[in-house]
Amino acid sequence: MVKANRSSLDQVVSQISRFRKNRDVTVLVVAGSQTENEYVTGLLTLHGFNVLSAHDGEDALDQVAANPGIALVITDYRLPKLDGLKLISRLRDTYSKNELAIIGLSGDGDSILSARFLKIGANDYLHKPFQPEEFYCRVNQNIEILETIRNLKHSATRDFLTGLYNHRLLMESGARMLAASKRQGEAICVALLDIDFFKSINDTYGHDAGDMMLKSVARTISKRFRSADIVARYGGEEFCVVMNVEKISVAQGIFNELRDEIREASVNFDGDTLSVTVSIGITIGLADNLEDLLSEADTNLYAAKESGRDRAVTTLFGS
Ligand code: GH3
Ligand code: MG
Ligand code: MG
Repeated sequence: MVKANRSSLDQVVSQISRFRKNRDVTVLVVAGSQTENEYVTGLLTLHGFNVLSAHDGEDALDQVAANPGIALVITDYRLPKLDGLKLISRLRDTYSKNELAIIGLSGDGDSILSARFLKIGANDYLHKPFQPEEFYCRVNQNIEILETIRNLKHSATRDFLTGLYNHRLLMESGARMLAASKRQGEAICVALLDIDFFKSINDTYGHDAGDMMLKSVARTISKRFRSADIVARYGGEEFCVVMNVEKISVAQGIFNELRDEIREASVNFDGDTLSVTVSIGITIGLADNLEDLLSEADTNLYAAKESGRDRAVTTLFGS
């Protein structure tokens, strides 16, 4: 008895939290018939989802392309222009099952249809008429799988402390950015930033103060760059930025301003105001691989440390 109560309470709590999360989930309903579209839309709206609707396959493709926020597509089989199976096949050319969930719907007596939906790339299938309870279970399950995968991907690519990209993501995305830059003949800029005398922050104020400082420096760095740039925690108290820059003078301007911002920012810890400086090694150009650019940036970082810290040293790659 107690167990049953406990589990129903858990269920209510999870339903409430699901309902609140649903406000951020956009679902596209694709049905040829107006009545059916309204019915499915109504069920979803009742559970707090953002709902968009399309009445044919072509329109559905356009809407998915125009709304990157769409997480789930619920599509009927019979549709004008492009049927449900063809729509799924087209969507799967661009979006994997882990990026966009698709549930197929059909009332046709064709029992093989469920298998065809799944084979062509649907995550799930519902036979009409269905009970609202089953509908909600399948919708929620598919959304939750998507969210779990997204969270896993996020933690696999992010540094836990600062939320910046981690070393692994930097190496993968940096190599891709370099390859794209080579194709376009555009220079790439690689910068390594290392906090000066960081060990003394830990030694004097403790590890928690050090962590706070790392987070603060990470925020200052990431504010300075665009989403197309890669800003990563390279390791310990070192950060790395990879970006496309046309001129050496532009890169020097950006990193000198950033260096000033970091010096001027401060962190309050137990009544003390702490601040740090950074040394930066920068290289600009095109290399055979990312490691070569990182190695030259590291040589420049060493030069910046040797010549007094709190400064940036920049070279054109290989010069
Ligand atoms: P330099 O100016 O030559 O770079 O001196 P430094 O003291 O910054 O360099 P050093 O390599 O001697 O020390 C880096 C310190 O960074 C040592 C290590 O304990 C600390 N550190 C690395 N990762 C973390 C972390 O995640 N949290 C904290 N609090 N400290 C860290
Ligand atoms: Mg270091
Ligand atoms: Mg250091």
